[in-house]
Amino acid sequence: MTNKSKSTHSRRDVEKLLPGYNCGICGYARCDEFAGALLKKHATLEKCRFMFQELFADNLQDMEVLLKEEQIIPEDETIIGLLDGYEADFVLKPLPQEKSCREVLFPFSRAELKEGDIIRYRPLGCPITHFAEILEESHGLITVHLVGPCHRLDQAFDYQDIGVCMVGGFEGMIDGKLPAVGDTIRFLPHHCMMQKVHSGVVVQLEGKRVIIEGIDLKVWAPPIKGER
Ligand code: SF4
Repeated sequence: MTNKSKSTHSRRDVEKLLPGYNCGICGYARCDEFAGALLKKHATLEKCRFMFQELFADNLQDMEVLLKEEQIIPEDETIIGLLDGYEADFVLKPLPQEKSCREVLFPFSRAELKEGDIIRYRPLGCPITHFAEILEESHGLITVHLVGPCHRLDQAFDYQDIGVCMVGGFEGMIDGKLPAVGDTIRFLPHHCMMQKVHSGVVVQLEGKRVIIEGIDLKVWAPPIKGER
């Protein structure tokens, strides 16, 4: 019987999967030092930004398997939407230093909207009113970060009510199974107040950073709970 708590991978095994640039951006002078720190849990993989680029996608998958075998990162857990009981492939988390994952909206309103505006809207197909800050406006599409409703309660700011919006896309960081470009996936936006599983198509993937379009709140599969 194998003893799972015993280390079976060497520092060299970890180093072989790292980019090998020895650039020091991770805070360690060379990749082999970073490999040692990873194995001792003194550093996390996210410190090496190159690992999350498309070029190292295969290495990233192998590294995650290795780190799970070494019990350095946890095994994948099944992700289930609280509201509908559907299983998701991953949770979509915010990009580094951002408040929520990004949403791209098609507003039906003719209001003039610009970067920095706070809007109130209801996504088509969702019963919850959202508050968001506009990060970018381009050709009638707006990219936003959510700022409420929870955050809004203790903040006084003006907002424009723009009614119902179609949600066209999401962008964020994958926490869970890595898909391929073109895959139809199910995901749980980290900020979703209903914790409802969404579906969409992966149109861009760089490491764990993903853009998903063709968003749908309907998921065509039986729920895991089997009671509905
Ligand atoms: S950031 Fe990545 S490539 Fe650069 S030294 Fe650290 S592990 Fe190596």
